[in-house]
Amino acid sequence: MKLYNIKENDEQVSFGQAVRQGLGRNQGLFFPTELPRFDDIDGLLAESFVPRSARILSALIGDEIPEDKVHELVGNAFAFPAPIKSVKDGVYALELFHGPTLAFKDFGGRFMAQSLATVAEDGKITILTATSGDTGAAVAHAFYGMENINVVILYPKGKISPLQEKLFCTLGKNIHTVAINDDFDACQALVKQAFNDEELRQQVGLNSANSINISRLMAQVCYYFEAVAQMTPKERDNLVISVPSGNFGNLTAGLIGKAMGLPVKRFIAATNANDTVPRYLESGQWDPKPTVATTSNAMDVSQPNNWPRIEELCRVKGWPLEQLGKGAVVEDAQAADAVRELQSMGYLCEPHGAIAYHVLEQQRQPDETGLFLCTAHPAKFKEVVDDILDTDIPLPPALDKHSKMELLSLNFDNDFAKLKQLLIDVRHSD
Ligand SMILES: *Cc1c(COP(=O)(O)O)cnc(C)c1O
Repeated sequence: MKLYNIKENDEQVSFGQAVRQGLGRNQGLFFPTELPRFDDIDGLLAESFVPRSARILSALIGDEIPEDKVHELVGNAFAFPAPIKSVKDGVYALELFHGPTLAFKDFGGRFMAQSLATVAEDGKITILTATSGDTGAAVAHAFYGMENINVVILYPKGKISPLQEKLFCTLGKNIHTVAINDDFDACQALVKQAFNDEELRQQVGLNSANSINISRLMAQVCYYFEAVAQMTPKERDNLVISVPSGNFGNLTAGLIGKAMGLPVKRFIAATNANDTVPRYLESGQWDPKPTVATTSNAMDVSQPNNWPRIEELCRVKGWPLEQLGKGAVVEDAQAADAVRELQSMGYLCEPHGAIAYHVLEQQRQPDETGLFLCTAHPAKFKEVVDDILDTDIPLPPALDKHSKMELLSLNFDNDFAKLKQLLIDVRHSD
């Protein structure tokens, strides 16, 4: 398959190039020149998760990677389920947190790791990324133990939760974590500086593994089909899906699924107080405000970097943007109410998923089936959930194990020369 740069349409790349490069010229995002469409949706849905996902990804990637190879990559990446749970009549939760780092980013991170290992040209790769939590953990676990790939993750010292830090800073081997004595923006600036250093970039084979990588989005298309496959044909016919959104990668993947034939009536874009998109859908004005901190901090994004892909998809398909419906903004207090409401129905949920539930219940018609995405395990946001429910939720085994391990992070000042030396040392370490 070919992909083109949304900003500079004459730049066209293969799947392998898009995975290796991440971004095109002028920071342009890559988008498929063609979206395959499945006509026999019932047949597709009748298959089980891994073979069905292999078919979907193979259709997207094309003959650049043989289908049995794609099947193998998917089998390695999707080694955990994506179940739907009924929370009340007509409403399901899609649980995307059964992977090793307890958030949906495991799907994309692990498929990207598999893809990159497959399309890497000779030589070693160094993944350099900055994180405020979930992405770093997913990337670290996805690439852990892979040959010829080293990972360096920067995070702001003391500004991510101790539990999150333990989850990805205790691995060792090819995973190198660095606590920077500064904030998240400073970490991102260091990463940017490294990517702007052309000589260093070549020398250590830099790649960013961030959420704009097309392989991550493609992987996410698969669990929308998996959710629908678990419903009855009647439920599928009138389905509304609510997506808790930050960078809007998850919603982009759902819309790509729809373009490929996923039966879904409409999507709902739910955000927290960082409401650039809902305001844009209302007024037509793109007017990002400074980011505000909320209890759903993985969605604290005011300049969502996948939004141009959604506009491009709507343009290509001739879908009016209004068909996305009205976006909706959920404040922390409403999210907390939604967590309590779900708890009263016997479903434990953290604020990101609860935001999606809240908007779903505001906008769903009585005859519609609703599905909301639960993007993280409640224990991953234990402090917030304990506080809202006045409880002490237990840690799942994976988190409990890491919480008892020793931190292996280095600690640097905000100093590019030191980072550069580390990248060179890591490149030559084995
Ligand atoms: C990353 C993340 C989101 C936001 O997903 P986007 O694809 O960036 O819109 C929502 N919830 C959780 C728990 C996340 O980690």
